[in-house]
Amino acid sequence: MSRLIPASAHVLPAVTESTPSLIQSTCAYCGVGCGIDIGVADGKAMSLVGSVDHPANYGRLCVKGSNLLNTIDLTNRLLVPEISGEQVSWQQATDHVANKFSDIIKKHGKDAVAFYVSGQLLTEDYYLANKLMKGYIGSGNIDTNSRLCMSSAVSAYKRAFGEDVVPCTYEDLEQTELLLLTGSNAAWTHPVLYQRIERAKKINPLMKVVVIDPRKTATCELADNFVQLKAGTDGAFFNGLLNYLAENGGLDADYIDEFTEGFEETLKEAAIWSIANVAEYCQVSVAELTAVYQLFCQSKSAVTFYSMGINQSSSGVDKCQSIINCHLASGKIAKAGCGPFSITGQPNAMGGREVGGLANQLAAHLDIDNPIHQDKVQRFWQSPTMASKQGAKAVELFDKIASGEIKAVWIMATNPVVSLPDRDKITAALKKCELVVVSDCVEQNDTLAFADVKLPATPWLEKNGTVTNSERRISRQRNAVSPAGQAKHDWQIIRDVAQAMGFDGFDFEDVSDVFKEYTQLTAFENNGERLLDLSGLSQLTEQEYHQLAPIQWPVNEQYPQGCARVYAEGKFNTQSTKAQFIAVSPQLPIQRTSAEFPFLLNSGRMRDQWHTMTRTGKTSKLSAHTDKPYLYLHPKDAKDLAVQDNDMITINAKTGQAITHVKIDNQQRVGECFMPIHWNKSYASHGNVSALYQSIVDPISGQAECKQGAVALSKKIYQQYVSVHTTSDVNLSADFWVKSAAIYGDVYQVALHQPTNDALLWSQKTSGLSGEWLTFQQGEQCYIVCLQAGKLAFLAYFSSGWPEIEPSWLEHVFSTETLAFATIQSLLLGISSEEFNQGKQVCSCFNVGEKTINKAIGQGCSSVDALGEKLQCGTKCGSCKPELASLINQYQAAPIAVITDLAVS
Ligand code: SF4
Repeated sequence: MSRLIPASAHVLPAVTESTPSLIQSTCAYCGVGCGIDIGVADGKAMSLVGSVDHPANYGRLCVKGSNLLNTIDLTNRLLVPEISGEQVSWQQATDHVANKFSDIIKKHGKDAVAFYVSGQLLTEDYYLANKLMKGYIGSGNIDTNSRLCMSSAVSAYKRAFGEDVVPCTYEDLEQTELLLLTGSNAAWTHPVLYQRIERAKKINPLMKVVVIDPRKTATCELADNFVQLKAGTDGAFFNGLLNYLAENGGLDADYIDEFTEGFEETLKEAAIWSIANVAEYCQVSVAELTAVYQLFCQSKSAVTFYSMGINQSSSGVDKCQSIINCHLASGKIAKAGCGPFSITGQPNAMGGREVGGLANQLAAHLDIDNPIHQDKVQRFWQSPTMASKQGAKAVELFDKIASGEIKAVWIMATNPVVSLPDRDKITAALKKCELVVVSDCVEQNDTLAFADVKLPATPWLEKNGTVTNSERRISRQRNAVSPAGQAKHDWQIIRDVAQAMGFDGFDFEDVSDVFKEYTQLTAFENNGERLLDLSGLSQLTEQEYHQLAPIQWPVNEQYPQGCARVYAEGKFNTQSTKAQFIAVSPQLPIQRTSAEFPFLLNSGRMRDQWHTMTRTGKTSKLSAHTDKPYLYLHPKDAKDLAVQDNDMITINAKTGQAITHVKIDNQQRVGECFMPIHWNKSYASHGNVSALYQSIVDPISGQAECKQGAVALSKKIYQQYVSVHTTSDVNLSADFWVKSAAIYGDVYQVALHQPTNDALLWSQKTSGLSGEWLTFQQGEQCYIVCLQAGKLAFLAYFSSGWPEIEPSWLEHVFSTETLAFATIQSLLLGISSEEFNQGKQVCSCFNVGEKTINKAIGQGCSSVDALGEKLQCGTKCGSCKPELASLINQYQAAPIAVITDLAVS
């Protein structure tokens, strides 16, 4: 293949002697894909800042990205391969996995094995896993946790455009007149994009932002309009918008005629959705709907920004489609400031989509159920076989493990026991599975508890390859340090197992070889059929690959520098080259509330945590903002349930149970509640929200309905509550516990059904420490302190309610080398010094609490900038800015407009 463009067009300047310590990489977390500059000295990462020249973030990082270096210690790292809990050599582990997979395939057929992979994998890892399963084993049984993230968006793009292509770029968010954010709390989930939007709105005050969500989230701080619709009714909202456009001159007839098909049937279906009908169905006011519909109709440009709130639904594909329909009908697509913009959750969800990480696709955007495409990929790979039908999608894959149809599973870089719905079903399936192989960087998590074989994989900072972000931008994730212990890169582990299974086609020496083969496949007999064409990168040398600068696909002869805006000519990848309207009949969630389960359960992310907390849970910097998996509940519901802030509550669902603390929150709708997704058995005894969802999926995408569960709530009372603060590991025996990281060690909130008879003995057994033990009993309260050489090592407060202690004061006390007698007295009385009393942490970067901020507002700080000037809060990563704005609003009692005059109550 000839070189189409000079490699120098895409590469960064070579690292020279004068810049030996700067490694440019990308963030490990969300789909924004921020560039990061890592300073390295003596083989160690010493500093980290946002890359000023990366087009995703231009130097910005959110609080999670900024704290990446605080999460890289070797605690809980898996460093050596294990079989049945015994450490083994790589040779033994590789042979064992290869032999077991080969035996099972021989005995039970190729569909008796499966891979369950992850949006955390790099594109090269993903590509080889897919190649092994589909081209060499010959099964479609490879699926990914990205199924839970954006597979509904993928299916809708494919239906509408003929290919899974995101037709937007981040600059559209800044160039638009109107931004609709729906099913997304971007302020917390994609903070750097939120900050770009915030800045764009400052520069252009005429820009309007509308938030459509059942919860009034931090994202609403930017909103001109907020539509607090009933959970799961988004399809009707957008059908109503389409109908409104048709009735109010909002259609682009030329665009519809020239570039689309299926409009009439689609409009016919939408025509029943008058504003009055939508208002009743979505439980919002006619006035607010009209205002938002008018904005869309009259704006010259509009972007709809959507995420898991839309996708994680039993009708997620249709919801995405209803959004796309509005953009096609109004011609607000494929031009500046326009388009339906699905934002991915994970750092490389998009890369997985490119290389066939989903069970219903082949690599390079080729179709698994198309014999011509099967033949094309097989000829390119020269592989012995090829998957000829779709494999099992995530939920179905674990159902097949449970039924015994799948007998061996290899799980890579993901924790399905925590993240898939119906936890008990997943654990039962893994218990039964003949062979569970897990490649991960951690030694223990809820899924590794079921692993027969553990394979140590490299994590971020050690990994090396590429990722693609939400706007189709490929960036290098470079390794800044060498692999720890015996850890290997995922692509190397897969290569070695494939070779041990006797397959050729895996003789890759360097990660750049894998990238080169993948890019060549995108170009192979493409002939302009697929936009995913990376022919312009397919001849990069190893050196050029390692210096590759961020670039948006397609990259080919037509777009040698990459392409930000696709479909500008109105030519789509369907057979007719026209975009397809698809009629949508809105469906309510399948999990419905009832007399037995009267509350609707929503779930999502917290600002400072990521997925199952294996990294973000490690640092006190990220735990202080929210240290437990609260159930957020409307004040009316709290009153009816007779619970108050911090009370315990039991959440029962058809599939399982959780127990957690209550947070009263008037930003919920009455009858709806919210719980975060992150907590699991490593951090909480009863905090896994996925256990409460049934495994109900969208029939097209297979994405699970994880936003609308049905639960029953009841107050939970324990007899004794203990707050444990420890500098060392504990051996805990308790009916309930939740753990968070502190600067001095760990904090446990513990609850017991039976009060302990001997608090001192309980503390000594729990801590396993010897030292100077002091106790003070006052009625039902008991305070226990353990000092080692005058320094505080362990502290436990026992009470009949949750003991409250000021965290900042404890940080100070734990850091003091020799405690003064007065401080020990204060500890034993549980009285913290007032000077440390700053309330719940809001700004993680500068550790500024709510009370301190409120005081400053009271003293005249009436803007986020003014607070920043006085207290520094919000001046580094900016993740807390929406909360600062909210505190100012609360203080000034001038909230944004919220719908209260419901059409239906
Ligand atoms: Fe990482 Fe935050 Fe950027 Fe997402 S927004 S990529 S979490 S720094």
